[in-house]
Amino acid sequence: MRVTVAKSLGTCFGVQDAIDLAMDESYRGDLTVIGQLVHNPQTIQQLQENGANIVDKLSPDIHTKHVMITAHGAPESVHRRVKEMGFTVLDASCPLVLRVHKAVSRFVRAGYHPVVIGDALHVEVKGIVGDLEDYTVIRDQSEIDKLKGRARVGIVSQTTQQIDFVLKLVGEIRERFPQMEVEFCDTVCQPTKARQVAVRELAKEVDVMIVVGGHNSSNTKKLALVCAEMGVEAHHIERASELDPRMFDGKEHVGITAGTSTPREVIENVYQAIIHMPGVDISECSDLPPKEKYLH
Ligand code: SF4
Repeated sequence: MRVTVAKSLGTCFGVQDAIDLAMDESYRGDLTVIGQLVHNPQTIQQLQENGANIVDKLSPDIHTKHVMITAHGAPESVHRRVKEMGFTVLDASCPLVLRVHKAVSRFVRAGYHPVVIGDALHVEVKGIVGDLEDYTVIRDQSEIDKLKGRARVGIVSQTTQQIDFVLKLVGEIRERFPQMEVEFCDTVCQPTKARQVAVRELAKEVDVMIVVGGHNSSNTKKLALVCAEMGVEAHHIERASELDPRMFDGKEHVGITAGTSTPREVIENVYQAIIHMPGVDISECSDLPPKEKYLH
């Protein structure tokens, strides 16, 4: 059996910057994070061990000076509320999420009804639409009719959507409402696209794919979905201990990929566990790609 690692995988710069900020010594023991900093339980545990207080929502019970907005971003009103409550805001919003906020503001100023393709319950989407009076979130084809009666719509997407899916949905909206003026701004982020392209390439070669990342990580789930769409067996695991030798029964070529919130360390553990399994020819295994340099 041989093992190939996707050319692009794991933590993106937005998540890494947020983790680095939260781990900064100067905030040790004096930082509250609102919501999951990343959708990865190992990283959350590390942050808590480092003294970070992680809560679901803003409340007067918070006793730290600093309050962090995560990489997923938050509406302006939340930033204001944090300051009004006397906390110091540590803003770890990813610039690529803020780009979505700006695109939506531009659409609203220009008179378009804002539409977000994504999961209405996801914290990033809540942050995008949180200050809007009127908006529509569309998860899939079955929700297109929510746009009935709109004359002009401006569409963006959650940054971690599959770009092919988003383009198809925009095409279907145009077809369904030919009279409607439809503007689209592609806001799927570059690291997500890079991981999707890499998993697609790799899925053509392997007969099983191990997808590493939090079970609640949107973009990790999407990577597994890409494999399923391509007819490749995929196993979404959070950590090396979830590997099961039965996943590799009769398989000759194993692929490994990981979502944008999966720490390097977790990927390395999974990689090491797989290449040391019985029947693996190490000389036929690719190395992990070098850790990405964060250029933004
Ligand atoms: S997945 Fe994309 S938008 Fe989200 S934090 Fe990473 S780079 Fe930023």
